[in-house]
Amino acid sequence: MSLKHSRIPLGRADALASQVIREAHQAGLPTDDIVPAGGLRRFAPAVEGTLLVAVADDTRRDEVLAGMSRLSIVRAVLGSATSSLRVSTDRGLLEVHVTPPQMAGAALVWHTGTPRHVKWLQTRASARGLTFTGGRLERHRSGLTVPDEETFYRLLDLPYISPELREGEDEIAAAEHDALPSLINALHIRGDLHMHSTWSDGRDSILHMALSARQLGYEYVAITDHSERSWASRKLLAVEIPLQREEIETARSQAPGIDILHGVEVDIMPDGSLDFDDNTLSRFDIVLASLHDAAGDHSARLTERYLRAMRHPLVNIITHPANRSPALSNGYELDFARLFEAAVDSGTAMEIDGAPGHLDMDGRVARDAAAAGVTIVVNSDCHRAEALGRQMSFGIGTARRGWIGPDSVLNTRGIEGIRKFIARKRGRSSR
Ligand SMILES: [Zn+2]
Ligand SMILES: [Zn+2]
Repeated sequence: MSLKHSRIPLGRADALASQVIREAHQAGLPTDDIVPAGGLRRFAPAVEGTLLVAVADDTRRDEVLAGMSRLSIVRAVLGSATSSLRVSTDRGLLEVHVTPPQMAGAALVWHTGTPRHVKWLQTRASARGLTFTGGRLERHRSGLTVPDEETFYRLLDLPYISPELREGEDEIAAAEHDALPSLINALHIRGDLHMHSTWSDGRDSILHMALSARQLGYEYVAITDHSERSWASRKLLAVEIPLQREEIETARSQAPGIDILHGVEVDIMPDGSLDFDDNTLSRFDIVLASLHDAAGDHSARLTERYLRAMRHPLVNIITHPANRSPALSNGYELDFARLFEAAVDSGTAMEIDGAPGHLDMDGRVARDAAAAGVTIVVNSDCHRAEALGRQMSFGIGTARRGWIGPDSVLNTRGIEGIRKFIARKRGRSSR
């Protein structure tokens, strides 16, 4: 059974998995737990089919599989085996594997890592007289007790490896030398510096966004609507900025307990200048600059446009640098080494954007950025209040895929740290 050749964006796989899990709980399927696996759990930007691991003991296995096949989202059963099921659904193909609780750790490892990661573990298992196959870890053909993944890795004399790192690449050597990075997590995030309101293409008001962010425990947000020549379906006009500022003031008084920064996501023009003039930009609390052009423009020119924007004293963050679209386009081919150098020199942060249509910077690029000393920011780029948390979790997962720790990330700092970061660049230019 395989779901290969059906790559779908992470966001779609996540939506499908969430709906199946919700329906399964509503239907009262007798499982201890249902956990996403595969690329979805690794936060791969595009995943080869959606995979779930359901934990239920053997006596309930058939009932779980039968119940899964009857969920209202399921259109047709495409295949089944003793402990698994493959179905088509309204939202794409889905594979479900049932594991008994005492083997859940081995099953999750088996169904989460890339083939290279799993192969490495198989080799390591056999060197210890164990067999790791089909989601089971055995010694002399009898199953070991592996209730969780920590136990699994421990049995192979390894530290726990986070799902986002299980690509079958450098994490292998890092794990063998006990040199795995300590990764950022949701608790480190103190605010979100990129989101849209009804002043551009967002669906919800500034107040609604701020209240939802406060509910997530954030200390601050930046409202960053699109500038007037951007490609967004609706944009913030220069003449509207004073009115938006008034609405921000009102929202500040109606949402105590969270700082609301008046920001903007300004487009970088073909010559590298910005869509609002300096006088206009200087009145925003924070400025994000971005390219939304389709890929295809000469990469050297795109790099130059970013470099010019970074040198601008009012630009604080470059958003979704590659402007890619998972499963559709890899985005721009940029000279990232030059961008990282300029970001560090100019005091400009670079973004990991959690919108499922971006997930950018990702993987090796994000890792190289942090290694070069670039200040990273993890944002939701959210257009709907209800999705603030979800998109931030995609951003965090993407950052973890880039081996990013909390110290590299701007929005793990408090509001004073954010203000200092902005003031430092502005002050530098006025000296
Ligand atoms: Zn954007
Ligand atoms: Zn945006």
